[in-house]
Amino acid sequence: MQPDRPEGDRSIGLNDRQNPLRRALTATLVYLVAGLIWITFSDRIVEVWFPDPRTLSSVQTWKGFAFVVFTGLVLFIAILRLLIKDRLLLSLQVNQRRALRQRERQLTVLMDNLPGMAYRCLHDDQWTMVFVSGGCERLTGYTPDELIDNRITSFAALMDADTTERIAEEVDIAVRKGQSFSVEYAITRKDGRQVWVWERGCGVEQDDGTAFLEGIVLDITDRKELENELEELATRDPLTGLLNRREFSRVLEEELERARRYERPMALVWIDFDHFKEVNDSWGHAAGDAVLCAVSRTLEDSVRSVDAVGRFGGEEFVIVLPEMDIEGARDMAERLRQRVSRKPTLLESGHSVPLTISIGVAVFPVHGHSLDTLCGAADKAMYQAKMQGRDCVVMVQPFQPVHNED
Ligand code: GH3
Ligand code: MG
Ligand code: MG
Repeated sequence: MQPDRPEGDRSIGLNDRQNPLRRALTATLVYLVAGLIWITFSDRIVEVWFPDPRTLSSVQTWKGFAFVVFTGLVLFIAILRLLIKDRLLLSLQVNQRRALRQRERQLTVLMDNLPGMAYRCLHDDQWTMVFVSGGCERLTGYTPDELIDNRITSFAALMDADTTERIAEEVDIAVRKGQSFSVEYAITRKDGRQVWVWERGCGVEQDDGTAFLEGIVLDITDRKELENELEELATRDPLTGLLNRREFSRVLEEELERARRYERPMALVWIDFDHFKEVNDSWGHAAGDAVLCAVSRTLEDSVRSVDAVGRFGGEEFVIVLPEMDIEGARDMAERLRQRVSRKPTLLESGHSVPLTISIGVAVFPVHGHSLDTLCGAADKAMYQAKMQGRDCVVMVQPFQPVHNED
């Protein structure tokens, strides 16, 4: 925003304009007074000094010449000083203009080479653009002409409704506090592709009170993709793509907390492959991996979208079934067992590898209230399934406490 020019500055400007007239009048006055004094007194002096009329006439002529030469010299010096000053001012002006043009050029180059765009928009619901730099088309697919004054679309329309609301709120808070804002969000380009952007800007107010936003919007899609990949790596098991133990534990905590809060049941299904070592020994480790992946898909495809499947280690898998009571959990576990045993894994070599699983099931709140108790109980039930001959489902028995904490 251009700040108002202070009162003092305005009066300095006015004085500047008055000065030349006053100074010219003063100089003329000095010249007139000096001239009058010179003419009056010099005539008297030469009359006293040179009583001879012929000599007096010649002296007065020379006196006249001397006056003209002297005043001519003063005029010359004064005009020279003025012209030198003018020249200096002119070259200063030219240099300033050149520097200004260079700065403008540099700014344009800088703005056009941003991995995004610089903008100035009205602080309204539509984010009506009044200026966007050349990078706008690269970033949004729209030319500056199409975005300015919302001719084809408004900038706000490039975001979904929830994002617009969230960003507007954050921007409003920052502007009210007189701070700059920094936000990240996704926009949909003209070609329908989604890009992630980072925006930093601040609120500015024009003299007439119109509120604007000014800032830059940069493309951060590559960084976002990398972040997502890193998140995937941190939360997913690299072989099966299922949730890893750490992420699954977090999800489990969350689901248990929800079940507690809404007093709803929640089931935990503990799975271990039967004689999996033999699969590795007979078919090789790579075939074992293929079986792990295939069974993971079967498990994932057999549960609801609200359920979560995690790989807890080796060939041990755990499934959390929110809102599932004992009967439902037993049916689901039985269905899983049957699906796995009926679907041998087909190896690339053409051989098929049969596999069975043993399952232990614990249900909140019947078999425990804490995560440790439920996991311990489900694990123990799974071992019972092993002892009962494998390829079966064992529900935790309520009279079998695992820990004393319940
Ligand atoms: P049980 O029925 O008693 O569970 O017999 P088991 O052979 O499955 O015994 P256990 O569960 O103790 O053995 C797990 C085996 O799983 C041992 C290991 O070689 C194998 N295993 C663990 N992780 C991997 C893996 O990522 N890939 C492959 N191919 N094998 C794995
Ligand atoms: Mg096993
Ligand atoms: Mg095991």
